Amino acid sequence: MKLSVNWTKPLIRYAVVFGITMSLLLSGCESPHSTYTKYTDSFFDTFDTVMTVVIYSESQEEFEFYLEKIKARFRELHELYDIYNNYEGINNLKTINDSAGLEPVKVRKEILDLVLFAKEWCRLTDGTFNVAMGSVLRIWHDYRQEGLHDPSIARLPSKTELREAGKYTDIDKVIVDLENSTVFLADGKMSLDVGAVAKGYATEIVVKEMIALGLKSAMFSAGGQIRTIGKPLDGIRERWGVGIHDPKQSILQDEGLLDVIFFNDASVANSGGYQRYYVVDGKAYHHIIDPDTLMPANYYDLVTVLSADSGVADILSTALFVLPYEKGLSLIENVDEAEALWVMPNGEIKATSGMQRLMRSLGATGSKTD
Ligand code: AMP
Ligand code: MG
Repeated sequence: MKLSVNWTKPLIRYAVVFGITMSLLLSGCESPHSTYTKYTDSFFDTFDTVMTVVIYSESQEEFEFYLEKIKARFRELHELYDIYNNYEGINNLKTINDSAGLEPVKVRKEILDLVLFAKEWCRLTDGTFNVAMGSVLRIWHDYRQEGLHDPSIARLPSKTELREAGKYTDIDKVIVDLENSTVFLADGKMSLDVGAVAKGYATEIVVKEMIALGLKSAMFSAGGQIRTIGKPLDGIRERWGVGIHDPKQSILQDEGLLDVIFFNDASVANSGGYQRYYVVDGKAYHHIIDPDTLMPANYYDLVTVLSADSGVADILSTALFVLPYEKGLSLIENVDEAEALWVMPNGEIKATSGMQRLMRSLGATGSKTD
């Protein structure tokens, strides 16, 4: 049973885990006894976000060997999990959506596995996380795009429109046939949206493959979603440190950190309304939608989840963002090796006891001596 302690930081109303913070926390030099050097690079062409890779390796060549493989694999997975674009010669999630109600689509294992994983977590979260909500999420996406393009005409979708789309979100109508390697959406009006899971799931695939190739010490940031491998091989620290940042402060400054979490071989994902939103009549409407109300959920400014698996962390941060605190706490308590931190709109922070043990503000450090 995990205990939860609450405390308040009234000045910090909005918080975010920024991947970029990690490089700041890493900026200490290596011990003269370490044979490893820290290399880092970023790329921008996958999953609509900035991907940053930090690797401790024994040579530049070794770093480049991994980096090329990592980039290529992220690109491949981006194309497979894309719901907006077609690519020559491959069936991706858009192909499945375009074939809804018409025919099963033959797809690669990476898609079959993702869809099965998402179906299972829809069940485990009691429908809170639901990739079959494409019809509803598409409406919010289109209204948001319109409002961002021209704020003077920003408007909300009507309840009728949302309720009509909400009729076509049945996860049981997402049919996976492993024998024939197909996915079929059994209703022509439904569609998949994997925005809450694809980045984390893809990161986990890439990480597992790089570990199999021999990568020992690395940190991946997929737009702020962090996955670490091993410990930092600088000869100094025992754990990676990942900053939880106040987005009202410049992300390039170490001030404004809400906290730092120290952990190895795990992932941290965050969900927050500040990440993608538009404004109607002075009020912000963001992108994480409660399947019951079909409206943006407004319980928190930020939810951060730590889990060994980056796909699980991604799903759980989205699911917890939509659940009232007691329900969210009970969900996370039932998941092995997952921890959470919630930032309330009034700045109050709640965290599971396992998360508290990793937090700098409560005494955790990344050094050898603790
Ligand atoms: P994240 O930033 O990981 O919390 O994911 C947010 C994205 O997930 C949104 O932009 C939508 O594409 C999608 N999404 C929003 N609400 C839900 C939900 N209740 N279940 C599944 N996906 C969702
Ligand atoms: Mg997510």
